[in-house]
Amino acid sequence: MQITPNGHVPILSPRPKINPEDKRNILGLSRSELKEALLEIGVPEKQANMRTKQIWGWIYHHGVADFDRMLNVSKTVRQQLADHFIIKRPDIVEAQYSTDGTRKYLIRFADGNEAEAVYIPEDDRGTLCISSQVGCTLNCKFCHTGTMRLVRNLTAAEIVAQLMIARDDLEEWDNPTEGRRVTNIVMMGMGEPLYNFDEVKKALDIVMDGEGIQLSRRRITLSTSGVVPHMERCGREIGVNLAVSLHAVRDEIRSEIMPINKKYNLADVLNACANYPGAHNARRITFEYVMLKDINDSDEDAYELVRLMRKYKLPAKINLIPFNPWPGVDYECSSKARIKRFSDIVFREGISAPVRTPRGRDIMAACGQLKSASEKKSKAQMLREQTESNFKTEFHATGL
Ligand code: SAH
Ligand code: SF4
Repeated sequence: MQITPNGHVPILSPRPKINPEDKRNILGLSRSELKEALLEIGVPEKQANMRTKQIWGWIYHHGVADFDRMLNVSKTVRQQLADHFIIKRPDIVEAQYSTDGTRKYLIRFADGNEAEAVYIPEDDRGTLCISSQVGCTLNCKFCHTGTMRLVRNLTAAEIVAQLMIARDDLEEWDNPTEGRRVTNIVMMGMGEPLYNFDEVKKALDIVMDGEGIQLSRRRITLSTSGVVPHMERCGREIGVNLAVSLHAVRDEIRSEIMPINKKYNLADVLNACANYPGAHNARRITFEYVMLKDINDSDEDAYELVRLMRKYKLPAKINLIPFNPWPGVDYECSSKARIKRFSDIVFREGISAPVRTPRGRDIMAACGQLKSASEKKSKAQMLREQTESNFKTEFHATGL
């Protein structure tokens, strides 16, 4: 990949590619859907399980996108596959590399919508931050993504593809699980993952599959702003680590900065955390707490935070996130000394409260800075485009 001096890598076509033969993209199908798709194109029933396993391994263990490279699949079946299917990742529109090693990918999906994924290398791990939606319905006041209206949920294929794109870029297909560069994933990119539960679950099932990418559920963390009705399901059905965006310890403040608190307040959220399946001391819940100057950063706030953790008997780890600014925002980050003091109070009371080092700020890749150019179209605009496209179809159909 070529990188310009400012770290920007303009890549590939400026417009979404259209698949001219309209073949089905099999990336992101579950195992059973893949088997079904193979039967549909005429792969014999008695071969179907074996072929599913082979193709799955090629796609998700070896990272192959070309049927000709699937050497243990017979030539006849390879031809059948190539006649009907493609394995296609979305396009990377731009990759930006921060001076601290963080990499941000702007990804464009087949319909032209865009989302971002961020790779963050650390000494002992490499974490990929993945988006679950284009935009977000929840307008947290301190979050850049929150200023976008929700454009749409991402599909499982689009969620898995973000990891595949990062693994392509980091050249780490075929590797054993040791020595990998992407060792962890966090569902902390754009969007609220629990408002796209089914597709997120399907994507994570693919990522965790033992014959594919093989990422352990212990290395996956899902962050929610506190969508209470889906939290228990997340633990039971997906089983990943939970992170909760707490950000305030009093309902008035939390409702002001996170409007979802009016629907599910602090007590609701903390009760749901206390009942999270699999939460215990060895597997603590992470509470994210963004440090906003004069809003939520006083000594009293720190003591109240400790009191709440105790009251609900939560096996907790507090992640203090220095607020990352973005153009047009009204908040400021608390001072270094204030953050340190807040952290010390919580720590002295026996709860771990590390301060998260901001990563990739120079390329706007840090927490809460993600935003793509995709905006929800107005009804009028959609109607206009629909009319134009109908007109074009008629135009072609009549051969004019
Ligand atoms: N929607 C989910 C996950 C994505 S946000 C959620 O809200 O939990 C990932 C984390 O970054 C959340 O804790 C979020 O509150 C935090 N965040 C948002 N904007 C931020 C900003 N400007 N600075 C620091 N953290 C921010
Ligand atoms: Fe959405 Fe999370 Fe940003 Fe809130 S913090 S607007 S829930 S992405």
